[in-house]
Amino acid sequence: MEKGATHYTHWFQPMTGSTAEKHDAFLKPAAEGRVVNEFSGKMLIRGESDASSFPSGGIRSTFEARGYTAWDPRSPVFIKESLNGKTLCIPTAFCSYTGECLDRKTPLLRSTQALSKHALRILRLFGNTSAQYVNTNIGIEQEYFLVDRQFFLQRPDLVNTGRTLYGARPPKGQEMGDHYYGSIRGRVLAFMMDLEKRLFRLGIPLQTRHNEVAPAQFELAPLYEEANIATDHNMLIMETLRGVARDHGLVCLLHEKPFKGVNGSGKHNNWSMSDSEGNNLLDPGETPHENAQFLVFLCAVMRAVHSHAPLLRVGTATAGNDHRLGAHEAPPAILSIFLGNELMEVVESIRKGARSKGRKREYMRIGVASLPALPRDATDRNRTSPVAFTGNKFEFRAVGSSQSPAPTIFLVNTAVTEALDAYAGILEAEVARGTPFLDAVNTLLREEFEAHAPVLFGGDSYAAAWPKEAERRGLPNLKDSVSALERFSDEAHVAVLARYGVLTPREVVARQDILLGEYSTSLVIEAQVCLEMGRTIILPAALSWQRKLAETIASLGKVGLEGATETHMQLLHRVNRHVRDFMIALDRLDEELPRCQDIKGSALKKAQFCRDLLVPVMAACRAEGDALEQLADDTRWPLPKYRELLWIY
Ligand code: ADP
Ligand code: MG
Repeated sequence: MEKGATHYTHWFQPMTGSTAEKHDAFLKPAAEGRVVNEFSGKMLIRGESDASSFPSGGIRSTFEARGYTAWDPRSPVFIKESLNGKTLCIPTAFCSYTGECLDRKTPLLRSTQALSKHALRILRLFGNTSAQYVNTNIGIEQEYFLVDRQFFLQRPDLVNTGRTLYGARPPKGQEMGDHYYGSIRGRVLAFMMDLEKRLFRLGIPLQTRHNEVAPAQFELAPLYEEANIATDHNMLIMETLRGVARDHGLVCLLHEKPFKGVNGSGKHNNWSMSDSEGNNLLDPGETPHENAQFLVFLCAVMRAVHSHAPLLRVGTATAGNDHRLGAHEAPPAILSIFLGNELMEVVESIRKGARSKGRKREYMRIGVASLPALPRDATDRNRTSPVAFTGNKFEFRAVGSSQSPAPTIFLVNTAVTEALDAYAGILEAEVARGTPFLDAVNTLLREEFEAHAPVLFGGDSYAAAWPKEAERRGLPNLKDSVSALERFSDEAHVAVLARYGVLTPREVVARQDILLGEYSTSLVIEAQVCLEMGRTIILPAALSWQRKLAETIASLGKVGLEGATETHMQLLHRVNRHVRDFMIALDRLDEELPRCQDIKGSALKKAQFCRDLLVPVMAACRAEGDALEQLADDTRWPLPKYRELLWIY
């Protein structure tokens, strides 16, 4: 109240992908028609809400519609300032009456706890007796586009779906590379500075700002924080980006692919583990002992990405992200790890030790126990890898710009926990058997590096040869979200999530259902907008140009300009052809849409239908619409074009 708050809210992250809040005043009736301000401990700790409209994947039937919010004391409360007042926001977890989680925060918290437990076992084996827990930290790079609000409002596709469903390639895109790291325009810099100030007031320190590769594309990065807090902060960053942009006459587009033909937007998650004393466990150490420990944690991430690739892929599966992963854009849907040359050599030498019989032990000694100080800064960078080791952290690059980072992080945490648990088990058993500890570590690393070497790839992940090579190595390539989400409920995935208490089998199935449903709904909405814009905006413009051409030809004939009419006829033929094909494509979309909407059966079946029927037909509509855009009279074209959207801001 001292800071001006009149209301409070339990702020949570339901499965809608955004955040939710219901505000309550501190007011409470008192005697004699008065009111007092009240805020009790109970109100802080727990909230109950009718949550029947939040996605639950069948976990909560409407007669048991109550949902509970529970205070997350590890994430600081904050005060949201708006035009006419302030609201106290309390980060909370959200669950059903029966205790099943209905949000994105709960599994993240559960996974952090699991990882901490097994990472501590490893630390204890290495003689660390003081660490109390292990944290995961993330620094989230956020890419976004800015467009002028005037243009945005004239594009129903941007307004309704966050991306352009039509729009011909602009004469100038990102080919010149002149936007990347370019000097930031005044209007945008003013926006960025305003954003930074407002986020700082919310306790979110932004560190980096720059122009990204595509025109009108930008990036920010805050200082890294504990995963739970960083995730809450990323949700707030996305919300604040949108709000501040509006104040500057701009619109912030967080969609993964707002524009065809230029780069889309991602959200690189820089991930590391640190102990309670602040030591980064992915920081190569100074001594052989520290290096051995570092290599065990590094190896755990290799195993996690290699053994649980389809599960990790689930974290990045959304309709929007399909335009990046698996399409012609970075990073690919195949999960591989880039370690950098120096580290790669270390791994190779340890691995090869396995093959040279006789001198095995000696080799291994060289491999681990007397390792030279490892490189602290990865000097070489690989921008095409979906998972890159960058000196003292892993960068997970497949996350989509509009997504919550939580799913990827809790899945990574779970997969790494599985590896750490396995390693701790092996090492503890060896030590109990009397094997010298470092010998046991040597053997473990040799075997594990050998087993998981196929996940390492230092080459160009965009190259056409890579998918073939990846297949040969047995790495899965789940190109689209539906194929990825289908794998969520694989027995192995359900088992590992249950074993570490991250998600119960019922929660997995519910989540799978929600995500598939979200996919289908997004596509149906896009298809509806595509159809409506096609029929009511683009087609009328094309038809009026067609009529104009026909009239011109008729009048030219009258004045005897036959030669001129011949070229006019050719133009008219082209327009006719595209108009005809456009109408055919729109009709097909009109037919497929109800089929997708009415389909009976599982969420998976519906999503498969949407993917197989709607995606190609929408592409066909777009191809024709865009061809017409490039033929018709510009002065009468009813939509702002890419050359305006991308360059005028
Ligand atoms: P890039 O060079 O890959 O574009 P940026 O400088 O844009 O990287 O962002 C790097 C992000 O990684 C920042 O958010 C930074 O705070 C974060 N980061 C740095 N060290 C760590 C760490 N140990 N663990 C997690 N994140 C980290
Ligand atoms: Mg960056």
